[in-house]
Amino acid sequence: MRATRAIIHLDNLRQNIRVVRERIGFPLICLPVKADAYGHGAVPVARAGLEAGADCLAVAAVDEGAELREAGIDAPILLFTLPLPEELPRLIALHLTPFVFDREFIRLLADALESALPGPKGRQPFPVHLKIDTGMGRAGCRPEEAPDLAAFICRQKNLELAGVATHLAASDSTTEDDIGWTKTQLVRFREAVEGIKAGGLHPGIVHAANSGATALHEDAWFDMVRPGIALYGYSPFKDGPAALPVKPIMELSTQIVSIKHIKQGESVSYGRTWTAAEDTTIGILPLGYGDGLPRSLSGKWKVRMEGGLYPLIGRICMDQCMVNLGAGAKIPRWAKACIFGPGMQDAADMAAVTGTIPYEITCNINKRVKRIYEG
Ligand SMILES: *Cc1c(COP(=O)(O)O)cnc(C)c1O
Repeated sequence: MRATRAIIHLDNLRQNIRVVRERIGFPLICLPVKADAYGHGAVPVARAGLEAGADCLAVAAVDEGAELREAGIDAPILLFTLPLPEELPRLIALHLTPFVFDREFIRLLADALESALPGPKGRQPFPVHLKIDTGMGRAGCRPEEAPDLAAFICRQKNLELAGVATHLAASDSTTEDDIGWTKTQLVRFREAVEGIKAGGLHPGIVHAANSGATALHEDAWFDMVRPGIALYGYSPFKDGPAALPVKPIMELSTQIVSIKHIKQGESVSYGRTWTAAEDTTIGILPLGYGDGLPRSLSGKWKVRMEGGLYPLIGRICMDQCMVNLGAGAKIPRWAKACIFGPGMQDAADMAAVTGTIPYEITCNINKRVKRIYEG
């Protein structure tokens, strides 16, 4: 097997689900496994998550739902983003539960159901969740439209209003302004849900909380929470009472495939950005931006080997990068090199260096890097 691999610690996922469950007490947990479970591998993560007590899953594309169904997963799967009309027969056959928020789409879905063969659940009404935009400025109806849309859904004989949801734009921030915005969103959401109930309709499962709100905003928990990044091991808050004691699931590691002596004044890698100040030894790692290691990390990261930290030097290439082992280096060829992982510098630390978020770091570790499941 290739040296470069992503070890996925499923025991940490199970532990993170317990941490979230303890924090919230009663509501249901939806485990978002969109984007191949944030790069961790959708099917193994979904299986482990459901075993550990997650109640449902969520994806962002019909194909992602198909992958889970083909693996034999029959838990409810929410579809967060709207598909094209031509994807509806497949969505129906796969029994994915879409977020809906406009009449045209609701009608298209009802029509597609009319002409679909009875699925595994027969002719029972097909569940949908009404998505309300309370201030994210993305998908969702306006809060004041929600009661009418809910009634419109309920008038379709083949549809069931199984849930009502919103998404929070700034719940992972503790600035006064952002906390205020979350409160505003929650007021609008609660009013919309009350409006639906006032019309004599049952809203089904009411849900709003992403990771930030699961950690910080108890009034956003309602019937179900949808924490993604927290379950993958990155707490939106590092300290204080809102910090969740979760552990990263992904460990990115490789091995030194070659060791080489460099003389003072010699340069390493493209553009000759790094020159040896003294005679030294470097290790070559078979990992680069073609695996998803950000090139902007060049010269700004240290890898962990045999308990010590050693700096990456020179430009990160597509398939290789170089680590400075120092003049009297004791690190042997084939030694394991951890790029990030639990119990050490993690993807959130890496994100801080390159100016992004841990989501993007783990999502970008691509398919050339084999996932190895442990725990
Ligand atoms: C991705 C997503 C989540 C999870 O967000 P995190 O920030 O990872 O907790 C929840 N809800 C919706 C609608 C999403 O798209």
